[in-house]
Amino acid sequence: MEDCIFCKIIKKEIPSKIVYEDEEIIAFRDIKPVTPVHVLVIPKKHIESLLDLKEEDEKLIGKIYTVINKIARQEGIAEKGFRVIVNCGEDGGQEVKHLHYHLLGGRKLGIKICG
Ligand code: 5GP
Ligand code: ZN
Repeated sequence: MEDCIFCKIIKKEIPSKIVYEDEEIIAFRDIKPVTPVHVLVIPKKHIESLLDLKEEDEKLIGKIYTVINKIARQEGIAEKGFRVIVNCGEDGGQEVKHLHYHLLGGRKLGIKICG
């Protein structure tokens, strides 16, 4: 957890461009955007991956989607559409071991994105 780059972003030890924050969730711009809008939405609780989710996290994960809804509107991509991606594990291309949701939009996306 101490080495987790996203936990450091949460603690503001590493700067990031925050677009949303509340007591449980934070969202910030990806450092290497692959689309005009590329936001990472993460729980403040350190959960390594989708596989580490527990029943007690169900409410939090539901809330992440309503936050994504808000950010998509805020970023002006709600009307034209967007994509939400969660990478899990090595084959899934997960580089940062802190559960995160990629919110991608601002251009027409092909089938292949993020890999
Ligand atoms: P993954 O491949 O794990 O699904 O996605 C990790 C994402 O985090 C990548 O898109 C990468 O560009 C982004 N990322 C990695 N380090 C940082 C950082 O220090 N700041 C920000 N804003 N994004 C980061
Ligand atoms: Zn973390």
